[in-house]
Amino acid sequence: MEQLLELYETMGVSPAVYAYGEKALEKLRDRFDAIDKIAEYNQAKVIAAMQKNRVSAACFAGTTGYGYDDVGRDTLEKVYADVFHTEAALVRPQIACGTHALTIALSANLLPGDELLSPVGMPYDTLQEVIGIRPSPCSLAEYGVTYNQVDLLPGGAFDYEGIRKAINPKTKMITIQRSKGYDTRPTFSVAQIGELIAFCKNIKPDLIVMVDNCYGEFVETMEPSDVGADMTVGSLIKNPGGGLAPVGGYIAGTAKCISRCGYRLSAPGLGQEVGASVGLMQSLYQGFFLAPTVVAAAEKGAIFAANLYEPLGFKCIPGADESRHDIIQAVELGSEEGMIAFCGGIQAAAPVDSFATPMPWDMPGYDDKVIMAAGAFVQGSSIELSADGPIRAPYAVYFQGGLTWCHAKLGILLSLQKMIDAGLVKF
Ligand SMILES: *Cc1c(COP(=O)(O)O)cnc(C)c1O
Repeated sequence: MEQLLELYETMGVSPAVYAYGEKALEKLRDRFDAIDKIAEYNQAKVIAAMQKNRVSAACFAGTTGYGYDDVGRDTLEKVYADVFHTEAALVRPQIACGTHALTIALSANLLPGDELLSPVGMPYDTLQEVIGIRPSPCSLAEYGVTYNQVDLLPGGAFDYEGIRKAINPKTKMITIQRSKGYDTRPTFSVAQIGELIAFCKNIKPDLIVMVDNCYGEFVETMEPSDVGADMTVGSLIKNPGGGLAPVGGYIAGTAKCISRCGYRLSAPGLGQEVGASVGLMQSLYQGFFLAPTVVAAAEKGAIFAANLYEPLGFKCIPGADESRHDIIQAVELGSEEGMIAFCGGIQAAAPVDSFATPMPWDMPGYDDKVIMAAGAFVQGSSIELSADGPIRAPYAVYFQGGLTWCHAKLGILLSLQKMIDAGLVKF
């Protein structure tokens, strides 16, 4: 492909970096085939749910004002419920982000005097303020909800003995974060989450289990809701929005939990009956339709990145050959300069804002400075090719997304090029 090489060179990818990438790809063919098989299953699952619920053009007409009798909105929630195999779902553009969706799920189902338990260690940065681990106005702690945590064992396994001891009469809800977030522990498989849920419910059958499913949707053929989660929660500017949803979040779960979430999102007495879809429905449907193959593209990018960086001596989580349960690839770059160079490469490959230079900044909700590379059609969308990370040891960059595999590939090649250009990688 002489033509491609020439074009890539004008875009900043040297022939040596391209050749290095091609060599890494040679051994990834079987893994990419396996990813395509999962995507094929999930694609069929989504189409079947849309067919069963008779999705039609009428579903795309938006409502305004109160949004009473919004057929598109109500049908989309049924489609989500069918894909997640749950009784109900709340899928709304009024849910501002993943943190908001998780906040709704928590605050709708926890009352003063209840305790929330995380059996998988510290939750994602923004959740710490929601819970009140870091004091914040309107946190669950302010409303008299207590919090308890059991850390993972040194090897990353669940501390079953510790969890058994931590579950007490006040324990009302368990929160399980599937993806590692800005941590360097492994992401849990759906099967592992299932084992943990079974263990907890065996001790206390009426526990409500919430799973933070951010970045995990469609990576496997099963979702946490298939293994006993009462609420499975995520963001529409991540996997299930397929890159087209401009905003939104979802909660799929039991009718009882979801109905409470509806009241928390709008108001007691109103619940899921209100909430106009203001013309966003087509992008939410079409994004969900595309999500299985978009997730596959992103996962290929993550595997490619690990297979480029690990042989160069950078610790990758997951490792180059490890199995995957989300679309995130952490690469420990060891320095702030490394993070800036890597993110600079991802930014330079973007279709939007490619001329910008990502720099560390004080982002709301985070304790450390954060750097973010995102040249996205939807602002802040991390199902689109993006890289970010907190400026703290081990200076890991969290790389994710890519609406197409070709774009993900270009971004990773350019990130490596920038590392070489900055003298941080010897080639
Ligand atoms: C992205 C993410 C969230 C929510 O983040 P938002 O930026 O509010 O959408 C929560 N938990 C995990 C593990 C995440 O990756």
